[in-house]
Order: sequence, then structure tokens, then C-alpha cells
Amino acid sequence: MKKILFLLVLALGFVSCSQDENFEQTPPLTTRSSSSFSLFQDVNTYAQSINGQIYCPYEATYTFTFTFVGSPGSRYFVGMSGANNLTPSNGSSHRTVTATLKPGFNYFDVSVSFSGEGQRAEARLVIDKINGSPIYNEEGYVDLAISAFSQIHNPGGPGGGGSEPYHWTCPNCNTINSTTVDYCVGCGRHK
Ligand SMILES: [Zn+2]
Repeated sequence: MKKILFLLVLALGFVSCSQDENFEQTPPLTTRSSSSFSLFQDVNTYAQSINGQIYCPYEATYTFTFTFVGSPGSRYFVGMSGANNLTPSNGSSHRTVTATLKPGFNYFDVSVSFSGEGQRAEARLVIDKINGSPIYNEEGYVDLAISAFSQIHNPGGPGGGGSEPYHWTCPNCNTINSTTVDYCVGCGRHK
């Protein structure tokens, strides 16, 4: 009888303890996951970049259109899960990109940079198709679009002219990522 009572007390203690923990540890959910494919979600916008993520329940092929218009001296950088980074050196400023996205969250980032004063640029990454089919029922933003002005002043002045590092290199897979994203677009590793 003593033993049963002891077990009962133990069990009650455990139940109340785990209830407390559940209550305290309920995290604020900022990321949705769903059983179907998603478009851009959890979109963050910064002065010269914008990023978001796409959730895939299983592997999928996404087709994107990328467009860039900018002043001479301005540049773009697009980091994508499942595809090579897009930069002015590896293709045209208007192109179609196909990326194979892995199951889970895939990270995307579009950023622009400037070399001098008075420059401006616009870049846009649009989702056209999933697995070859036009998108209908998926949830989220269809595009990541950024429009930015140069914030460089007096580039030749003393102490000026240095540009902030806009990117970080993933130690795991060597993908170059924007400083505005906390997760590697190549492998999902935290910065
Ligand atoms: Zn990585």
C-alpha cells in the first residue's frame, strides 16, 4: 500500500510538473508549416534586401523569373536553396531559374548593393510554377521584390568609401549568404 501511494504521489508530481513546463515553454510561432507546398512565407524586408522561405512537404521543382533594373554600378545577389546564387557575373538581368527544393524549409534572399552615390536598383524574384504547373492553391507571397537607393555618401572622403560586408560564407557548404539572413540558403545551417 505504501508503495502504491508513493507511486501515486510520484505520478501526480510528474503530471503537474510537465503541465508547468508546457505552459512556460509554449513558443511564439512565427513559422507556419503545412502539408502542401507554400510560396514565400515569413518575409522580412530590409533597406537593401528582402528574404523569405518556402516550405515543401517533399522535394519539388520551383520555376522562378528573376528581373533586375539598376543604375550603372549597382549590383544584385540572389541566394537560393537548391540552385546557384544569382549574380551579374553568371547570367542576364532577366532570366528563368529552376530550383529543386528539398523537403522542409528553403531559404531565399534578394539583395542589391551600390558602388556610389545617387544609384538605385530594383530586383524581383517571382514564383511561376511548382513541378511544372502554374500555382493556384498555395499560400504565401508570389514574389520577393526590393527597390532601394544608394545610402553611400561622400565615397571619396576620409573614413568613407568602405562598404559594409553584405554577405557571409557558410562554413558548412561555402554558400554565400546575405547578412540579413540567419540561415544558410544552401544547407539551412544557422549563421
Ligand atoms: Zn550552408
